[in-house]
Amino acid sequence: MTVSSVLVVGGGITGCVTAIALAQRGVEVTLVERSPQWHGVGHGITVQGNALKEFREIGALDPILEKGHGFDQVRMREADGEEIVTITVARTGGSDLPATMGALRSDIQDVLVGMIRDLGIEVRLGTELVSFSSVDRHVEAELSSGVVENYDVIIAADGIKSTTRKLLGIHEEKKPTGMGIWRSVVPRTRDMSISGLYYHGPEYKVGFTPISDDLCYAYVLTKPERPDNGLTDAQEMRRLLEGYGGDVPFIRDQITEETFLNFQPIEWLYVEGPWHRGRVIAIGDAVHACPPLIAQGAAQCSEDAVLLADYLTREGDIEALLTEFEARRKPRVKLVVDASLQLVEWELHPDAPGADPGGLFASSLQSLAEPA
Ligand SMILES: Cc1cc2nc3c(=O)[nH]c(=O)nc-3n(C[C@H](O)[C@H](O)[C@H](O)COP(=O)(O)OP(=O)(O)OC[C@H]3O[C@@H](n4cnc5c(N)ncnc54)[C@H](O)[C@@H]3O)c2cc1C
Repeated sequence: MTVSSVLVVGGGITGCVTAIALAQRGVEVTLVERSPQWHGVGHGITVQGNALKEFREIGALDPILEKGHGFDQVRMREADGEEIVTITVARTGGSDLPATMGALRSDIQDVLVGMIRDLGIEVRLGTELVSFSSVDRHVEAELSSGVVENYDVIIAADGIKSTTRKLLGIHEEKKPTGMGIWRSVVPRTRDMSISGLYYHGPEYKVGFTPISDDLCYAYVLTKPERPDNGLTDAQEMRRLLEGYGGDVPFIRDQITEETFLNFQPIEWLYVEGPWHRGRVIAIGDAVHACPPLIAQGAAQCSEDAVLLADYLTREGDIEALLTEFEARRKPRVKLVVDASLQLVEWELHPDAPGADPGGLFASSLQSLAEPA
């Protein structure tokens, strides 16, 4: 095998799936994670079928699906609740997997972390990569713990705020989209069993994804700055949901001061230039973070992870394999980033000529039904 030892930097979805896929192929993996505690946050996430396919590839699908809620349709509505269209979403992971799954991020993370422990992968929490340099046929990694070690390859999966990106000499940086998002997890009714999206209301968009038999992940796409209006988070999210019909009044009524809420501006990144230098490569959000308008972040990260593990365990020159991997991934990732940015544009300017969010959403997912 070309590669026998790998350092994975970052323990989010990308780093976890990469570490598992490599270890399952017999590679000795060390994973360093900056955070001293390693747990997923309690938000919901909408995961498309092509992510589920990669979870199945590493044997994580069944426990993840057991915790989440799979479905095949998205209902688009006017702000008052009137239906615009119900789209049957392409099954991007294959005909035997649901088109979409809603879940708690922490549930997905727990399954992946459990597998990492079962595989005996060495994990060092509270540890970062400080610097690296090429040494003969290895790369030398200096860690924040003071340890210096040699690896065959370093994989940076340290997210949109990646520091390894800079160490790699990549100067592209994350950019604002002009939008912010409020997120919450609240009870749902039995009828809210597919995703719902509400357009043409006071905010850019309101939506929800069912994540279990009785919970949903609800969100509001709004301005990127939180107004200084003296309201608590719960009061602010309830205010933003005013003026919507359909299922939204029910969601609004569920939000209390105890509800776990989060606001953040939405940013994006796509690195056009090389993702690797020598034996060090960045993948996942560290090089392509798409606004979550077609919910492809986890899918593109997981596809990177499984495919990179495949390339690195082929015979051949490592740098040539990394170049081939990158060339294969970039067109697909670019399609997702471009479509997501176009959708942002249409959310910001819904009256733009030719605006067709439903059409673009459906056609993008149709293209992604092709293998990664
Ligand atoms: C508001 C929002 C909503 C989203 N909704 C969805 C959705 O519904 N569906 C979907 O598919 N995608 C969604 N996404 C995108 C998705 O969350 C990301 O694509 C995905 O989580 C990125 O995973 P990652 O592992 O590459 O990065 P991250 O999740 O950022 O993980 C990086 C990890 O690296 C660690 N780290 C950072 N720096 C270092 C360092 N120097 N050394 C060691 N460790 C380090 C961090 O602590 C972290 O654990 C959303 C994104 C946002 C911002």
